[in-house]
Amino acid sequence: LQNKGSHNSSGKFSNKDGTRKAEFFARRQRIAQQRKSLPIAAVEKRLVEEVQKNDTLIIVGETGSGKTTQIPQFLFNAGFCRDGKVVGITQPRRVAAVTVAKRVAEECGVELGQKVGYSIRFEDATSSSTRIKYMTDGLLLREALLDPSLSRYSVIIVDEAHERTVHTDVLLGLLKNVQLARMNSTKYGHNIEDKKVNSVTSLEKENGDTSFLKKCQGRKYSPLKIIIMSASLDARVFSEYFGGAKAVHVQGRQFPVDLFYTLHPETDYLDAALITTFQIHLKESPGDILVFLTGQEEIESAEKFINERLNQLPEGSQKLLTVPIFASLPSEQQMRVFAPAPAGFRKVILATNIAETSVTIPGIKYVIDPGFVKARSYDPVKGMESLIVVPTSKSQAMQRSGRAGREGPGKCFRLYPENEFEKLEDSTKPEIKRCNLSNVILQLKALGVDDILGFDFIEKPPRAAIIKSLEQLFLLGALTDDCRLSDPVGHQMARLPLDPFYSKALILASQFNCLEEMLITVAMLSTESIFYTPRDKGAEAKAAMKCFSSPEGDHLTLINVYRTSDELLEKRKMTFVKEKNDKVLRKWCKDNFINTRSLRHARDIHNQICGHVEQMGLHVTSCGDDMLQYRRCLAASFFLNAAVKQPEGTYRALGSGQVVQIHPTSVLFQKKAECIIFNEMVETSHKYVRNVTRIDYLWLTELAPQYYTSQK
Ligand code: ADP
Ligand code: MG
Repeated sequence: LQNKGSHNSSGKFSNKDGTRKAEFFARRQRIAQQRKSLPIAAVEKRLVEEVQKNDTLIIVGETGSGKTTQIPQFLFNAGFCRDGKVVGITQPRRVAAVTVAKRVAEECGVELGQKVGYSIRFEDATSSSTRIKYMTDGLLLREALLDPSLSRYSVIIVDEAHERTVHTDVLLGLLKNVQLARMNSTKYGHNIEDKKVNSVTSLEKENGDTSFLKKCQGRKYSPLKIIIMSASLDARVFSEYFGGAKAVHVQGRQFPVDLFYTLHPETDYLDAALITTFQIHLKESPGDILVFLTGQEEIESAEKFINERLNQLPEGSQKLLTVPIFASLPSEQQMRVFAPAPAGFRKVILATNIAETSVTIPGIKYVIDPGFVKARSYDPVKGMESLIVVPTSKSQAMQRSGRAGREGPGKCFRLYPENEFEKLEDSTKPEIKRCNLSNVILQLKALGVDDILGFDFIEKPPRAAIIKSLEQLFLLGALTDDCRLSDPVGHQMARLPLDPFYSKALILASQFNCLEEMLITVAMLSTESIFYTPRDKGAEAKAAMKCFSSPEGDHLTLINVYRTSDELLEKRKMTFVKEKNDKVLRKWCKDNFINTRSLRHARDIHNQICGHVEQMGLHVTSCGDDMLQYRRCLAASFFLNAAVKQPEGTYRALGSGQVVQIHPTSVLFQKKAECIIFNEMVETSHKYVRNVTRIDYLWLTELAPQYYTSQK
């Protein structure tokens, strides 16, 4: 840099380079300093020794102590990545995998994707030189389909285990098996095929690919180290599950946090959170604010509200900078939460429960906790999964308040009365006990686990839920009469990284000649809401949506949006550079009340699944203007989510018998078709169905006779 600068004819440049260099070194020094001051830095040697001594280790440590960012580096330095081996760290959340990998790459002074990388569904930032790999727990499960002994990994760290997501729970069971199999193969030089874990996935069998088998012949595996990391003090359940595995506790650093409650319950917690934000901003000393909300929509409407009120702040007062963080936020925007607020600004971070333990955000002094979280809920009798907003557990509330006391004393404002806190559940129920299991079952089957009821889960899911999900998979044609993966449909479905219903829709669409349309549909349904309705611009947003809306329903409406954005970009392709295209897309989205983030995400997902289906040999053809074909395909795919209109205007879901209403955001809200299929059920004041399309009732008996002949 210096050379370049000194040869430069313009002195201006050399100065600039010099400043950059100084900034770079200052930053590196700051990072080194930060790392050294983390509580975990003092116990590096002991931790490494414990990992060397124990095949399975449980590490409990408070949020922010440095577990996620530091331990993989300790292991790398201690030689766990020799011979090209990888240390894998799983996260329940995409955001955490991405942001932490970026941070650790920076700490190591390497380019992301080289020594340090991440891999999440629809996004891979790794290479053959990656040795520290952050990923989602779901992604590691997928990897196991192709490499059942997880042979590249010397250590797998299951992070955030206290979250007990369904993927974490299944992963723990799988890792237990893999560890045993690898241990046995080391001891006896056995082929891993003989062991409990079936080494050749059915996928490979299907393709006649026995390369893995050949590789395994007579091959010895190095043992697999498993580390379970958790922010919750209760390590017992993990220790017992892993045969009395050792647990160590890393001391954290926590300053006192003053708790405030409201006198009365709040009727509108979002409103209350916004008022509290401004109160803190006007009355309290400097320090950033973290607000816990339940999802993207809430976060975006809060963001908008705050920004619109900024000009009402008293002249000359400090400004507010809103920074959102939620799961489906594109990764380049996720990092914004870590940047310090510019001079003269106070940062307000609007986050989902991601910020509870997954990502540690520096600078927070105030926490606003309305006390709610969006959670999955499943009714095995009705076979319906829905997303509902529920009160947090006590341990979640405590994690949230703890975020205010990381760097100094802080304050937490709980937007409910104190006696309500006592009524909260102690901890959150594991997700496996409250979700539809068809996805998990499909994956376990593909991994060769046939006896789902007998699988060694850390906590067994309800038997009724397993049976219901098996039944659904059978109805989708993924399982045979004797409960094995069907050929080819079951295998194809297991291969796609999608909800089984969506996978089935894609497979069927290639037969209905509308795969092009279905790919768009699945991509658009895989992101959070595409349409965006500001609180005070409901009418304008509705008018904008009309331009795209199809009388047949939301699925076609989404296709219209996607295709219009396609045309827009297509037109500009030759003329402008990417940044300008981005700008054009942003403006177009803004004018049409479309969520740019979601649309971009959908376009990414679309490209990825296109790749998958092409690899599978499915033909991507379009049904052109024949939307009847497409709607029939929707009916054939989502027949389990069909509903018929009742005299008073509500709908009766045919599968579950539940009475539901069409969500007000649907284009069919006022049209009231006789018979519909839907993709999602949300429960707020009513049971609503979202993403709805009009179908013909008779199609159900014609296209899904396996379900509808025996039903009324
Ligand atoms: P734990 O896993 O124990 O909760 P982490 O390893 O995630 O702790 O965080 C350790 C420290 O690193 C925290 O002080 C946090 O603020 C900081 N940190 C983590 N990620 C980033 C990032 N992307 N940018 C800046 N600081 C970060
Ligand atoms: Mg962590």
